[in-house]
This record gives sequence, C-alpha cells and structure tokens, in this order.
Amino acid sequence: MTNRKVLISGSGVAGPALAFWLVRAGWDVTVVERAPELRAGGYKVDVRGAATTVLHRMGLHAAAKERDTGMRQVTYVNKAGRRIASLPADLLMGRRGDDLEIMRGDLGVLLHEAAGAHTIFGDAISEISARSVRFESGRVEEFDVIVAADGLNSSTRGLVMPEVRLDHLGAYISIFEVENDLGIEREEIMYTEPGRLIFAYAMGAGEPARIGMTFASEPLGYDRRDIAAQKDLLRAAFAGRGWRSDDFLAQIDDAPDFYFDSMSQVPAPRWSSGRVVLLGDAGYCPSPASGQGTSLALVGAYVLGQQLVDGGGFAEYERIMRPYVEKNMAFGRRMVRDMVPASRLAIGFRNYGMRTLRFHPRKEQVIDKVLAPMHEAANAITI
Ligand SMILES: Cc1cc2nc3c(=O)[nH]c(=O)nc-3n(C[C@H](O)[C@H](O)[C@H](O)COP(=O)(O)OP(=O)(O)OC[C@H]3O[C@@H](n4cnc5c(N)ncnc54)[C@H](O)[C@@H]3O)c2cc1C
Repeated sequence: MTNRKVLISGSGVAGPALAFWLVRAGWDVTVVERAPELRAGGYKVDVRGAATTVLHRMGLHAAAKERDTGMRQVTYVNKAGRRIASLPADLLMGRRGDDLEIMRGDLGVLLHEAAGAHTIFGDAISEISARSVRFESGRVEEFDVIVAADGLNSSTRGLVMPEVRLDHLGAYISIFEVENDLGIEREEIMYTEPGRLIFAYAMGAGEPARIGMTFASEPLGYDRRDIAAQKDLLRAAFAGRGWRSDDFLAQIDDAPDFYFDSMSQVPAPRWSSGRVVLLGDAGYCPSPASGQGTSLALVGAYVLGQQLVDGGGFAEYERIMRPYVEKNMAFGRRMVRDMVPASRLAIGFRNYGMRTLRFHPRKEQVIDKVLAPMHEAANAITI
C-alpha cells in the first residue's frame, strides 16, 4: 500500500497497539479518542498465548510484566461476606509461558506512551465520505485508511456497516473503583447469587479496589451516552442484594471511570468496507466472559499493521485472523454461562468444588483440563 495517512478511531488497547506499528513504519498516524483523556478504567485483563509474542515483538513484555497484578489468591464469600473457599491464584488461573495479567488501564497507558502517535482527545468521527472524514468538532481532513478501533459499540462501524448487530449473551457488566476498605491485597473476592456476580480486586492495601458487577438480563434499552441511566440500571439490579452490594452502589457516583456495557459479541460478517477496517472489539469482540478481548486486540493490531505495511491489505488481515477469532468467540459463548450461574444449585456445586479442590490429589491436572480450551484458543494462530 502506498497511501500512508491513517486515522485510528479509539485509544483503548487495539488503537494504540496498531499506532505503535504504523508509527514505526513511518506512516502518518492520527488517533482520535472520544473521551477527554485516556480511559484508565477497567478490571484486570489477561494477555495470553500469541498476544504475549506480540508484546515481546513490541519490546513491551518486560514493562507489562513489571505491572502484572501479581494476584496471590482468589476467595469466594457468601451473602454475609464470610470466606467459604480460598485458592492460590497460581493454581486457579493456570497461567502458561509468558501469560500475564494487568489492569486494563495500565496496559492502555503503556501502549499509548509506547506508540507515541498524535492523539486527539474529546473528538470523534461524525461522517466518512469518498475522500474525507468529518469530525464532531467540525474539522474535515483527508485520510487514506480509517481504522475503527472504538470498541464494542463502535460508531465508526455503525457508519459503514449499519447492518452489524450485537449478539447479546444475556448479561451486563459494570466496572468501577471504590475505596479499598475490604482489606484485600493482591486478592480477588468473588460473590455469586443466582443471576448475579460481584468481584473485587486491589493491587495493595492502600490502593483503591476495582469492583465488577455482572447480572443476567435480556437486552435493556438505554442511551449509551447517559451514564446516570446506566448507574440506575446497576442500582436496580443490585440494590438490597448480598455481600456489600449496597456499599458498592453507594460509591458509583464518585467513581472516576464508570464502565457499563452488555456482555455481547460482534459477529461482523466482514471486517472492511472501502478504506475503513475494523480492529479489536469493534470487529470481533468476544465478550469479557472470554477473557480474550485484549489478546485479540493485540494480535489483530499486529497482523493488521503487518499487512498494511507489507501490502497484504485488509483481505489478508481477515484471512489470517478469522479462524483464531472464531475459536475465541466460541470459547466466550461457552464461558458466559459459567460466569453468572442461574441457580442456587449450580452455585452450591461450584462452591463445593472450590472448597474441596485444594485437597484433590491431582488438582493441577484437573485445572489443566478445565483450562485447556482457553489455552488452545489463545494459541490458535501462528504469527
Ligand atoms: C473503560 C473500559 C473498561 C473496560 N474494562 C474491561 C474489563 O474490566 N474487562 C474486560 O474484559 N474488558 C474491559 N473492557 C473492554 C476491553 O478493553 C476490550 O475488550 C479489549 O481490550 C479490546 O480493546 P479495544 O481497544 O478493541 O476496545 P476498548 O478497550 O473498548 O477501547 C475503545 C476505545 O474507543 C473509545 N471510543 C469509543 N467510541 C469512540 C468514538 N466514537 N470515537 C473515538 N473513540 C471512541 C473508547 O473511549 C475507548 O477508549 C473495557 C473497556 C473500556 C473502554
């Protein structure tokens, strides 16, 4: 490809990761991010398999590893907050090779700083015409390639492929920050009741805690730009529920980067239209239930960057990525059922398993078997 002026919409994970490769290849790169600053929110995310190879090739694996969450243990609590089972994270997470776990915000900052691309905050694409792009601010500029890296609800995708509909997996997820009065340090706490899951993590006793709240629900109608309405939906789902639901809800108005979205996948039948190409969640969100969204974004950015620079183009990018993406999407669909169990029986069964696992003589093999499909999906591409 001889045209080298690219606009990337979205500075989450996929956007800056692609910018990194294109800046290095001498392309003229602009990133536009709707938020007024880098969004530092989110829970911890996994980087696994092929995505760790990408971090190595970027020269960023060591820096990411330094920011690894270093999680020590996972604890399950009951309605009253009593600890009913604790397991060492090393056993439960079954990490392999160079896999790592990092707070989403830390990874975003690392990628953004390493990319060094010209980034415009507080603006977004409003119109794409034959040669030019109009921004919401009114600015008009010409670009050769436009990359939609603006996440699950990508409005850039909406402009060029309005027919793509989200595949709702039957749940919603919210992530926000609270004061860490849980006394946790590199420990994850999980509380489940039918159709609802609360999880909490803090890097240190003096650090804020990140709370995740997930609830089963049919698709809800709400304005995606109306944060107050999203907080009301979360309150309606968790008010008066178990563990510390009400304490956490009482802090959502003070949370610095409140995140609320559906657990959905993007089943886009094609990833490009004209000079616009989809990357990361915008094109193939596997849902947070898969734990693979960040890895797909990193690998996708690497493959797209390589194909743009070497001239393979969008078709080659899609051909190389499709089988890997489909494996991970299938894995995500299976996982969502386990993430939010529907019945007390299923929760009791899971809790019993967690309580007794540490006494199992072949516990490592049991976990290995459970996690094998995840590792297979994470490595289902050669780069
Ligand atoms: C604040 C936040 C918290 C998250 N927390 C978690 C989590 O805890 N667990 C998990 O599994 N996944 C989480 N995700 C999703 C996860 O980051 C992605 O699945 C994955 O990393 C792929 O990244 P992405 O860059 O494709 O999308 P995202 O990380 O979603 O990044 C998209 C970026 O585009 C920006 N954007 C949106 N619309 C526009 C627009 N019209 N124009 C310009 N910019 C736009 C967003 O502000 C965001 O910065 C979170 C996403 C966000 C934005």
